[in-house]
Amino acid sequence: MDERIFLSAPHMGGEEIKYIQHAFKENWIAPLGPNVNGFEQDIQDYNNIPYAAALSSGTAAIHLALILLGVKTDDVVMASSFTFSATVNPIVYQQAEPVLIDSEEETWNLDPELLEKAIKDYVARGKKPKAIIFVHLYGMPGKIKEVKAIAEKYDIPIIEDAAEALGATLEGKPLGTFGDFGVYSFNGNKIITTSGGGALVSQKKEWVDKARFLATQARDAAPYYQHSEIGYNYRMSNIAAGIGRGQMKVLDKWVENRRSNHDFYSRELSSIGFEFLREAEGAYSNRWLSCVLFNEKHTTQPEELRQELEKYNIETRPLWKPMHLQPIFKNCKAYLSGVSEDLFEKGLCLPSSSSLTDVQKQLVVEKIKDFIK
Ligand SMILES: *Cc1c(COP(=O)(O)O)cnc(C)c1O
Repeated sequence: MDERIFLSAPHMGGEEIKYIQHAFKENWIAPLGPNVNGFEQDIQDYNNIPYAAALSSGTAAIHLALILLGVKTDDVVMASSFTFSATVNPIVYQQAEPVLIDSEEETWNLDPELLEKAIKDYVARGKKPKAIIFVHLYGMPGKIKEVKAIAEKYDIPIIEDAAEALGATLEGKPLGTFGDFGVYSFNGNKIITTSGGGALVSQKKEWVDKARFLATQARDAAPYYQHSEIGYNYRMSNIAAGIGRGQMKVLDKWVENRRSNHDFYSRELSSIGFEFLREAEGAYSNRWLSCVLFNEKHTTQPEELRQELEKYNIETRPLWKPMHLQPIFKNCKAYLSGVSEDLFEKGLCLPSSSSLTDVQKQLVVEKIKDFIK
C-alpha cells in the first residue's frame, strides 16, 4: 500500500536541529534557556506584538488568560461553539459556565449578532460575561472587528483563540493581536509545531509577566520555595522552543504551501459540485486545513467518501463537531443559528500538510473524482 497521506503532518524546515544541538552543547536541557527567549522574540516580531509567553500548550494559554481575567466559579464566559474542545475546557477548569455561540455562514466563525443577543440576555439577568473566547477556525479570519466593537460597548475582554490561525491576517493585521489576549498552538498537527506547545500574547506587559509567573509554579522572589498563589507547570521547554525557532523560519513558506493545496483542491473539485470557504475582502487565511462541503446534488455522504479514501491510506476527517453537540457540553446554554451543525454534516477536511507533494494531491483528487461520479 502507498505511504499514508496525513491530514496535517509535522513538517521540519531543517534548522530546528541546529537549535537543539546548541541546547545540548550548552547543556540547556533544564526547562528554560535561550531558545525560549529567542522563540518568544520570534513570535513577538512575527506578529508585531510586544509581549509573548511560550507555554506548554495552547490550552494552557487559554487557561492562564482566563485566570488573569479573574474568571472564577459561576462566572459566565461566551465562546465559539464551532471549535475544538480545548477552547472551552479551560472555562470549566475555572468552574465557570460556558455559553456557546454558533457561527455565521460567511467565515464559519462566531456570529456577532448572536453574541450580542446572548450578552444582552445575560446582562439583563445581572450576569455580565467575564470574557469572550473568539476562534478563527481553520485559519480563516472571523468577524473579530465586529466582535471587538460589541465587546467594547459592553466592556468585556476578548481572548482570541488563534491556535489554528498563526500566519493569517485581517486587513494586514495578524490574527491573535486583535483581542486583549491572543493564543497560538504549536501542537503536532498545527501550521508549525514544537512537538507540543503554545503561546499567550498581549499588548500588556503585566499580563504576560504574570502568565510566566503562574506558568512556573508561582514562585515568590525568595531564596527558598515560597508561594502566595496557586501555580501551574505550563512553561515551554528550551528543547521544544528550539524546534519552534527553526519552524518560525519556514512559517511563511508553509502558509504558502497550505494555501496552494487549497487552491488546487478548489480548482479541481469545484467542477464536481464541492463548495469551499472563501476569503472575504481583506482576509488572508493560512488555510490550515482545506475543507470541502457536499451539496444537495451529491448522492454520497462525507462519511462514505472518508471511508473510501481510507482504503487508499488517505486520511480525511469531518469538520469539528460543534461544542453544543458534545455530550460533555450538552447542558450548556447555546445561542444557535444552525450553521455549525450544517457544516459538521456536510463537510470533510482533506489532506492539507505543507509537505504534501503534487503527486499526493493529484492522487487525492483522482480518488475523490472516481468515487463521486
Ligand atoms: C489546537 C487547538 C487548541 C489547543 O491547542 P493545544 O496546543 O493542542 O493545547 C485550542 N483551540 C483550537 C481552536 C485548536 O485548534
